[in-house]
Amino acid sequence: MGHIYYNGDIITLSENEYPEGVYEKNGIIEYVGEISEIKKICDDKDEWVDLCGKTLCPAFIDPHSHITSLANTLRLCNLSKANCFDDIKNILEDFKLKRNIKKGEWIIGFGYDNNFLIEKKHPDKTVLDFFNENPVLITHTSGHMGVANSMALNIFSIDENSENPEGGVIGRFENSKEPNGYLEETAFINVSKNIPEPNFDEKVKLFKEAEKIYIQNGILTAQEGFATYSEADLLYKLSNDNLIDIDVVMYADMKNNSDITEKYNDILKKYKNNLKLGGYKIFLDGSPQGKTAFMKEPYKDSGDYRGYPVYNDYKVVEFFDKAVEENIQILGHSNGDGACQQFLDCYEKSVENKGEKDIRPVLIHGQLLGIDQLEKVKKLHVIPSYFVSHVYYWGDIHKMNFGIDRARNISPIKSTTDKNILFTMHTDTPVIMPNFIEEIWCAVNRITKNGEVLGESQRIDVYNALKGVTINAAYQYFEEDKKGSIEKGKYADFIVIDKNILKVDKRDIKNINVIKTIKRGSVLFDRNIQFDEQH
Ligand SMILES: [Zn+2]
Ligand SMILES: [Zn+2]
Repeated sequence: MGHIYYNGDIITLSENEYPEGVYEKNGIIEYVGEISEIKKICDDKDEWVDLCGKTLCPAFIDPHSHITSLANTLRLCNLSKANCFDDIKNILEDFKLKRNIKKGEWIIGFGYDNNFLIEKKHPDKTVLDFFNENPVLITHTSGHMGVANSMALNIFSIDENSENPEGGVIGRFENSKEPNGYLEETAFINVSKNIPEPNFDEKVKLFKEAEKIYIQNGILTAQEGFATYSEADLLYKLSNDNLIDIDVVMYADMKNNSDITEKYNDILKKYKNNLKLGGYKIFLDGSPQGKTAFMKEPYKDSGDYRGYPVYNDYKVVEFFDKAVEENIQILGHSNGDGACQQFLDCYEKSVENKGEKDIRPVLIHGQLLGIDQLEKVKKLHVIPSYFVSHVYYWGDIHKMNFGIDRARNISPIKSTTDKNILFTMHTDTPVIMPNFIEEIWCAVNRITKNGEVLGESQRIDVYNALKGVTINAAYQYFEEDKKGSIEKGKYADFIVIDKNILKVDKRDIKNINVIKTIKRGSVLFDRNIQFDEQH
């Protein structure tokens, strides 16, 4: 059975915008255009899908995120919003109910900050002993300390006879040897290693939940942007068991696990059961908000400190040489203009060494990529993939770290499109949720959390922003002949959104909802139907 979509705006991202209808058969787009023509070729069994004035677009393609990391975080309870001990208790209790955590199972929280708690101190086990049927461990936002309840302390065999380990402290009640639950440095690190890993069934459950989040956001191609053996093995097993519904492209940790490309050669550059191994991933620096991005010029008010690179040039050329030689794509995390320069210079060297191949190297983040560096990006056919939502989430911090001039040009997308350089846009999930509607809103408005416009001249139009998460992203994955636009012969991967993103006031884009996600003609998500009824 096929489907005919009609009676709504259809954004195709091809030359033929706003056609009357789209005809899909066996998951492939058969025809885009006049209804009268569709009537000639469709048959009685095909279903007419009335869009009721809503908008049909190509499904989103995620150029960079970490789907298995998102799955991992879903297992943990986020306590960063807790303002007092009671909040911690209540948030954990909600989490326990929502996740249906049973008697005896672990409740693990992270991200509380004693500085932001009314009590101005760490909670102790009496707070967490509210849970007397579950071991509980919560981690401080620094990751260096935490608090366990009595049941967890029992499991860790920590009692009044336990000595402090070297380099660590076991907290005690005043004038007593009895542990109060607080564990610091090695005392904490030693025990947190004892928390059991989820078993395979739990991992499957968590993966499906993460996948659901992508689907609800209209994403049908997702990324695992840093696969060590652990992520690669899990994804491979999931795909073998036919447990992946969307398309997932993973990139091997090139520094430590580059032989994943040999181990999983059968999925290298091609999908099998919805999983593809796209190539390699390397990191060249840190993050701008953490002041570890490697810059050409010092950070604001920081003496001569300008962050630092991960590798010397020699090593980076070696990585690129290997990728070019094997004709395999490589993604390089580079945030600061120093790291971007290293990426470009070293890749150029490899092209000189090995000759240029169509490996479509991706410069991931490129937040402080200089406008003067774009010429080289273009010359080398490097794809910059921007994390433009940063402007909203951390824009105000970037002003403090870099000063207004550099902050304004964070993610210089307009300069990029002006030079006709193909770019993509990502959310680096789980850093933030994979919300591409919000990402587009950021790219066209560039409003920070404080409500200021940061970098007016780098705002782009909605159509180009949409391309950054559809057709351009398809190109990044070497899938532009199958995905990213609504054209004859491509996959019927669509989303239906409740308003036309090209027609609403651009400040209101944020309020648009994905109401349907359709893969190869089948509905994977329908906002009007409970997700669980469909799966
Ligand atoms: Zn990164
Ligand atoms: Zn990432």
